Amino acid sequence: MLPTELLQEGEHLMTVCNACRYCEGYCAVWQTMESRLVFVESDLNYLANLCHNCGECFYSCQYSPPHEFNINPPKTLAKIRLYTYGLYAWPGPLAKAFCKNGLLVSLLAAAVLIAFLLAASLALGSRLWEPVRGGDFYQIIPHSVMALTFSVVGSFSALALLIGFLRFWRDSGESYSTLANPVALFRAAKDVLSLKNLDNDGAGCSYPREKSSEALRWFHHATFYGFLSCLVATTLGAIYYYVFGWHGPPGFLSLPVIFGTVGGIGLVIGPIGLFVLLRRRNREIVDENQSGMDLAFIVLLLLISISGLLLLLLRQSAAMGTLLVVHLGFVMTLFLTMPYGKFVHGIYRSGALLKWALERSRQSENKAKA
Ligand code: SF4
Ligand code: SF4
Repeated sequence: MLPTELLQEGEHLMTVCNACRYCEGYCAVWQTMESRLVFVESDLNYLANLCHNCGECFYSCQYSPPHEFNINPPKTLAKIRLYTYGLYAWPGPLAKAFCKNGLLVSLLAAAVLIAFLLAASLALGSRLWEPVRGGDFYQIIPHSVMALTFSVVGSFSALALLIGFLRFWRDSGESYSTLANPVALFRAAKDVLSLKNLDNDGAGCSYPREKSSEALRWFHHATFYGFLSCLVATTLGAIYYYVFGWHGPPGFLSLPVIFGTVGGIGLVIGPIGLFVLLRRRNREIVDENQSGMDLAFIVLLLLISISGLLLLLLRQSAAMGTLLVVHLGFVMTLFLTMPYGKFVHGIYRSGALLKWALERSRQSENKAKA
């Protein structure tokens, strides 16, 4: 259950906004709100995950503080969104620990994983501090250690994310069968990939607006596509190794290295940009309780990208072994903390956009029938 005070704040927001409707063209939140007359907790949870915290509605609002109505959609929805991260997370207690001390928990997890990889590799006879002929990663970290840690961490993370998503879907009032709607899936994928609504230009707004909104969108893009590019690079690397049996390091112009380099650069530019914007944001629309979670995600992405790019540059040197262990430790920490950190914003927002696409399809069908 949402804490009573937050529930009342959300209901107050919806009551005032649904009567006003000035912001109806701004984003999916407002169009969704207008199709409802009453707002139960699950509606607020859904709307909170539709919001992208661009801040535009706040600057347009004649009832924002210091007005006595105290209307602040980005902040109220951010607070509800944070609550939903804990509500949907599995196992729940891990989410609470991460929410309170995101950066500390991430760094501790990274230290443990790096220590484990070091110890296991040394125990199996790896010569971590010697240059490796051919740059074969498995001469440094034995195949068994790599496969075991990645399969355990990866499976746990995938399961926790799946459970979280299914909990969100059930809470939003949808049955699982509606997940298989190809039209809605296509619409939602388009909205997710284009970061819909984060490009809000404040059209029609005569009030001072969040000037960083467009920059926020591009830094999100750099982070998102950088992450995807790194995933493609890793997949291609595995295909080269296991399918084609090419055990040497891929050349600088090979596909895994090109995707990895582009992704790594994106994951340096994006998180740094997001960090700068986060620091400069108007504190009035920020939920400070999320700052630790935001910072942990940004720091982890930077540690991964910087260690990955260094690994590429120094792969023929004696530093390669240490860099590889450190890089993989950070990557595994990201996977381990994904279900409890800022990453879930992408998962639940995608789910909310899918539900929004379904609702639009149903509205069109009803209109056609009428
Ligand atoms: S945020 Fe303010 S201006 Fe926008 S719909 Fe709500 S009350 Fe109206
Ligand atoms: S902050 Fe932006 S995304 Fe959130 S409700 Fe307002 S306009 Fe929509």
